[in-house]
Amino acid sequence: MSRVYNFSAGPAVLPEEVLKSCQSDMLDYHGSGMSVMEMSHRSAVFQGIIDEAEADLRDLLAIPDNYKVLFLNGSANHQFAAVCMNLMKNKAADYIITGQWAKKAYAEAQKYGTANAVASSADETFSYIPDCSDLPIDDDADYVYICENNTIYGTKYKTLPNTKGKDLVADVSSCYLSEPMDVTKYGVIYGGVQKNIGPAGMTINIIREDLITDDVLPGTPTVMKWKTQADKGSLYNTPNCWDIYVCGLVFKWLKSMGGLAEMQRRNIEKAQILYDYLDASEFFKGTVRREDRSLMNVPFVTGDADLDAQFVKEATAAGLVNLKGHRTVGGMRASIYNAMPKEGVEALVKFMGEFEKEHK
Ligand SMILES: *Cc1c(COP(=O)(O)O)cnc(C)c1O
Repeated sequence: MSRVYNFSAGPAVLPEEVLKSCQSDMLDYHGSGMSVMEMSHRSAVFQGIIDEAEADLRDLLAIPDNYKVLFLNGSANHQFAAVCMNLMKNKAADYIITGQWAKKAYAEAQKYGTANAVASSADETFSYIPDCSDLPIDDDADYVYICENNTIYGTKYKTLPNTKGKDLVADVSSCYLSEPMDVTKYGVIYGGVQKNIGPAGMTINIIREDLITDDVLPGTPTVMKWKTQADKGSLYNTPNCWDIYVCGLVFKWLKSMGGLAEMQRRNIEKAQILYDYLDASEFFKGTVRREDRSLMNVPFVTGDADLDAQFVKEATAAGLVNLKGHRTVGGMRASIYNAMPKEGVEALVKFMGEFEKEHK
């Protein structure tokens, strides 16, 4: 067996310790005589798994009691619609467009009401986060929407927008649990888990209680109404039991590593290695405005598409895989989520140095 350094944006690297736990639990989860995949979601054993996962997540993020945690089947794309169906009571919402995922959420919202783009960084290919200190927030807006870490373009909000009293809804798919968050600053936090937490197939939504109501848009499917799920402890439909279990293991792993403040320290340290190299290099260039750089997704280019392709190819042969940039951006992108060890980033930078020497 040989494992590569996997820089995929998602589905992405998981902690080896977690994969090993999955392996050892595979045939017989804690004396139950069965795999988690074979278990009833109504069983006491599974109830223990989901309760413990929620408790650990609450611990990690210090989630206040007036916020619910939902484990929901599906993807972040499902929530693009669910956010509107559950929150757009005035049929108006303000979106800040900082990349592909924000743009998609915004496009979805236009199906349900009036979505206003109150700021955008499209003018410079989303290479920065716009100034959000004094936006033209709509008086009627039901919420203000952001994509907090832009997976494709490699930017991250360092300060949250001034929403002028409106509830903030944030897609945190690619920065979930990468650092501590002040949950009280948000109405809704959600993200697909396949970037920084677990296997694909689920989102985790953290929602302030008063935003979970029966007052949803007409035609909202029962299963997509957050209240349905909150009332049933995320067990209205059969949930993604396996995913909840793996996410639970990741929560335990994060706690064993020292929690989110320690993860943040590590993530800063890892990203710094790569950004320092990019800043010093005369060959590779980062594509993002310095103050808006993501700790999780680092896009870079040589400026020559053929050299980019050659770099990706040779890196793959050296066991540094999935470094090709998103098809809309080109170049390279290194996703260095929680589970990417520092050694992986060091190996990447070493390889970049050798490639640079050879081709400069
Ligand atoms: C990957 C990603 C999505 C899309 O996720 P799906 O689960 O495939 O719908 C949405 N938002 C962000 C920030 C992402 O990184």
